[in-house]
Amino acid sequence: MTLMLGVSLAGREVLLVGGGLVTARRLRRFVDEGAVVRVVAPQLHPETARLVREHGATWHPCRFRARDLAGAWLVHVATGDAGTDSRVVGLCERRRVICISAGNGEHGSARMTAQLDTGDVTVAVTSTHGADPRRSAAVRDAIDDLIATGSLPLRRRRPARTGRVDLVGGGPGPADLMTVRARRLIAEADVIVTDRLGPAAEVMRGLDADVQVIDVGKRPGHHPVPQEEINRIIVEHATAGRRVVRLKGGDPFVFGRGGEEMQACLEAGVAVDVTPAPSSAIAVPQAAGIPVTHRGVASAFHVVNGQGAMEVSTLAAMADPTVTTVVLMGVAALPRIVSDALRHGVAADRPIAFVESGHTPQQRTTRSTLGRAVADAQQIGLRNPAVIVIGDVARAGLLLPDGPFVRAASA
Ligand code: SAH
Repeated sequence: MTLMLGVSLAGREVLLVGGGLVTARRLRRFVDEGAVVRVVAPQLHPETARLVREHGATWHPCRFRARDLAGAWLVHVATGDAGTDSRVVGLCERRRVICISAGNGEHGSARMTAQLDTGDVTVAVTSTHGADPRRSAAVRDAIDDLIATGSLPLRRRRPARTGRVDLVGGGPGPADLMTVRARRLIAEADVIVTDRLGPAAEVMRGLDADVQVIDVGKRPGHHPVPQEEINRIIVEHATAGRRVVRLKGGDPFVFGRGGEEMQACLEAGVAVDVTPAPSSAIAVPQAAGIPVTHRGVASAFHVVNGQGAMEVSTLAAMADPTVTTVVLMGVAALPRIVSDALRHGVAADRPIAFVESGHTPQQRTTRSTLGRAVADAQQIGLRNPAVIVIGDVARAGLLLPDGPFVRAASA
């Protein structure tokens, strides 16, 4: 029988008896836990010696003696000699010190586990009869796979002492384009603050009923919740001890005002972190077979918010045949963008592509040229959300044959 305990070794002394590779492996684990590590062995394997040096562990270059046990909370023995291992196990037993024996001989009072840490949850696997480390590792890995799909109930049921905010990029839309970290953070969250462009509706549908979802519904021309209010909401919930996920479409730091939200958290002394994701600036053109860079065609790309004033750098990018210009939030401003570009001398036959609702079943790609862009956009009824790509990579037939491109159903 085995009782697994969540033992904290931080600042506590761990004695490793033996200087071989097993010791090296364990040394790293104990050091990671913050333990104060002491090694007793006549000689060290070079790898063990390196770790001892790197991690500031102490090494007593001698054979094990009973008095070495003094001060140790935990002993790990792997000398390669069954007799010595058993002697250490026996002594620990008498002195009531927890002991792990890696040798084939007598088992100590404790066993190592195959462990994984996810957020503030630790999962550990071991066997109750006869060690079987490979099975333990396999079980641990299977649990890890479940975590990756966001399907384990990882959310705290008891409020944490301190809350936090995660600014999480949800990617361009489909759940399988979200990162493993994004899925985990969503599964752990008490509060999710999201926009209409907040991706992966199916992920949101799987949430516990008591997870609070706040829709701050950003959409073009319609900002029901001002940015200062969003900042206030995330800070307030985190200060009350909740785990807050601020879920955004694409990447939080690409026209997502993630920087301002991070500043607000830092100013309020709230722990904050950012989880990146594929940005629509790259992922939406890509969904239409448009690479933002392509050898011999475009060697740089320039990403711009179409709502802003036309900067010199954007005009230069559009005029440069080696640069791709990617315009986000550019549907309403298209006529102005085009007329500024033409007035600046950008060629009227410069290719342009509109990619609407990228990575969704409604995705539509329209190819045009700068000169015809406004008329073509009007004719098709160009709608948000759309990414506008200007440059030779937008040319029909570059990668995909001209004509409608049908995404594979599994995407
Ligand atoms: N942080 C986001 C961008 C936010 S700005 C990111 O990194 O992707 C919102 C703009 O992104 C929209 O106006 C549109 O230009 C673009 N966009 C986002 N999702 C899109 C999609 N699925 N299809 C086309 N454009 C999209």
